[in-house]
Amino acid sequence: MKKDIKTIALIAHDNKKQEMIEWAIKNKEVLSRYELCGTGTTSKRVAEATGLTVKGYLSGPLGGDQQIGAKAAEGLIDVIVFFCDPLQAQPHDPDVKALLRIANVYNVPIATNVATADLVISSPFVTK
Ligand code: PGA
Repeated sequence: MKKDIKTIALIAHDNKKQEMIEWAIKNKEVLSRYELCGTGTTSKRVAEATGLTVKGYLSGPLGGDQQIGAKAAEGLIDVIVFFCDPLQAQPHDPDVKALLRIANVYNVPIATNVATADLVISSPFVTK
């Protein structure tokens, strides 16, 4: 069932969490118009830094990426901001790939770096 308020999922690998926090603070006003969710640590840190409510799923390496992928497959996530670390191997790399795949299967915008996230968040397709 489609909702009136769009949902943005936030995920950042450890070396990208600071970038995510800075990006979320910079875009706090726009983000406040959405329902937000994210993987465990990312959601907690963004919530602490911005004061916004961010529903937390499991930590990424413990299945959080898969939970968010399942929600995207159900049509319950409209945008994914996923700052992945291109310089460090991740134990949950198969889950990362699965999330990228499911975003492509369902045509869900997925921003994997700050430059793309800035474009997505300022798009008329996303802003209301
Ligand atoms: P985390 O998970 O927000 O719980 O750290 C992110 C990830 O590594 O996918």
